[in-house]
Amino acid sequence: MEKELDYHTEIRRSSRRSLSLQITEDGTLLIRAPYRMSERTIMGYVSARKDWIEANLQKVAAKKLQMERIPKLTEAEIKKLTLQAKSAIPERVEYYARQIGVNYGRISIRHQRTRWGSCSGKGNLNFNCLLVLAPPQVLDYVVVHELCHLLEMNHSKRFWSLVEETLPDYRGRRKWLREHGEELIGRLPD
Ligand SMILES: [Zn+2]
Repeated sequence: MEKELDYHTEIRRSSRRSLSLQITEDGTLLIRAPYRMSERTIMGYVSARKDWIEANLQKVAAKKLQMERIPKLTEAEIKKLTLQAKSAIPERVEYYARQIGVNYGRISIRHQRTRWGSCSGKGNLNFNCLLVLAPPQVLDYVVVHELCHLLEMNHSKRFWSLVEETLPDYRGRRKWLREHGEELIGRLPD
């Protein structure tokens, strides 16, 4: 008898041509399949990928546990970080805005789970207070990223070359954020 794995399965059909498997953050096996593929074919594929599914379910569970273990910031600590960010970030914005040659509006500091920075069409900038917990080079990268959006409101090649002109090593900084960003966000209380 084969060992039964305990997970929730969801099949999402579309006009795609092949099948793909993904373990979502909540530990669901998400199967993306073509409209016409039979359930039987799908399940055959799933059982052939059993080892992969098991390994990835474990990975997701371990990650969830790791995130739950991250010590959460208190209200007072968040307030303190916000104050730190309010004193540190505008100076960096001013420095890089001059270098890039762009004007900006108001700067606000927030604590969001979803973004490090953003900018509005009016040129107002918004940064996550958690950035002061990241290395200064990473904070600068987010500042430059948002300032470059004031010239190029997308992630086109042109946008990235603008970022690169100012920060030739931006890739390493972005990589840090991709690798450690989630841990930082995990410090915000739910
Ligand atoms: Zn962007």
